[in-house]
Amino acid sequence: MNAQSNSKTLMEIKDLRVWYRTTRGNAQAVDGVDLTIQRNEIFGLAGESGCGKSTLAKGILGMVKLPAFVESGEANFYRSVSGSTAVASDLIKLPARDMRKMRWRHIAYVPQSAMNVLSPVARVEKQLLDAIFEHTNMSKKEARDRMFECLDMVGLEPAVARMYPHELSGGMKQRVTIAAAISLKPELIIADEPTTALDVNVQQVILQELKEIAADLGLTLIYVTHDMAVHAELADRMGIMYSGLMVEVAPVVETFKEPLHPYTQGLISSIPMIGGGRERMTGIPGNAPSPLAWPAGCRFHPRCPYVMEVCREKVPPMIEVAPNRLVACHLHPTPLSESASPADLSLPDWEEAVSQAPVVQAIQDIKEGGETAEELS
Ligand code: SF4
Repeated sequence: MNAQSNSKTLMEIKDLRVWYRTTRGNAQAVDGVDLTIQRNEIFGLAGESGCGKSTLAKGILGMVKLPAFVESGEANFYRSVSGSTAVASDLIKLPARDMRKMRWRHIAYVPQSAMNVLSPVARVEKQLLDAIFEHTNMSKKEARDRMFECLDMVGLEPAVARMYPHELSGGMKQRVTIAAAISLKPELIIADEPTTALDVNVQQVILQELKEIAADLGLTLIYVTHDMAVHAELADRMGIMYSGLMVEVAPVVETFKEPLHPYTQGLISSIPMIGGGRERMTGIPGNAPSPLAWPAGCRFHPRCPYVMEVCREKVPPMIEVAPNRLVACHLHPTPLSESASPADLSLPDWEEAVSQAPVVQAIQDIKEGGETAEELS
């Protein structure tokens, strides 16, 4: 399939659904995501564990295996050709052979665990060179030069090339996977919680390196993590997922300054702050629902402190309420008028609202009445 895009758009995901077969029915992990990724941006994909963000990343890359499967949708990837024209391939419909060619060369993946991609029985240089030879016609010398250049970009000494993965620390192994990902100068890198298993100091250094590499190579990075602090530091724009759906997409500064979706507000209120007075973290009341039976209407309604009658019945559509700011919430039913600013949409105080939320009230009643949850059910 060939089509042109406006030159800024790198990927357009349309109504993508990735489900898991289970004995109790289909778990609808990703359930109708629409998203546009721009060239040269760092896009942060956020949300609690189980919201579908990793499944979405793997779905785009054709990396889901049974019991997971792509139920429907499109992921149109606009490759640049000769530096100017963009040619679209729907990654979902791409034959496996073509998808293999697309991976590494145009789209690279950095997984959470380096050992998922590194062979324990091959030296680093063999693993990096094999990937380069498989996808290019480089000579041996060109490939080796490229390999050392990439190792240098991720802060590794040339000597690391002769080592086996077991001789490297966790941080070094993750750097090798990043070196592999950038070795063919892809247009897009999808990094799925690549620093989650590392200590905070190493994480900090690797994030900084990633940011510099993305800028130097002019590539687009989709960074998946539940860690909102990482997004604050790394991303240009971010998307918040909840229960298999995108609920808010906005530039990172606006997201943190003026979150428009109550779930985003809750995620931000859960970030511990260094300095300032001792403050109780409010968090988000209740638990995430099961993908086997999403709640009707807005899927966040059982946990939302601002829930209204309409929320229990009608799914809120995603609306561009201000330039570059999308939100799916009945509190924001219409696009913002030109004279207003996003601050006019600001939500009430989260802590105050949460203390009044039905789920919090129910827990309070149990505590005060001395009844157990079992007695109440
Ligand atoms: Fe809360 Fe209603 Fe908005 Fe959902 S639609 S987030 S329940 S206010």
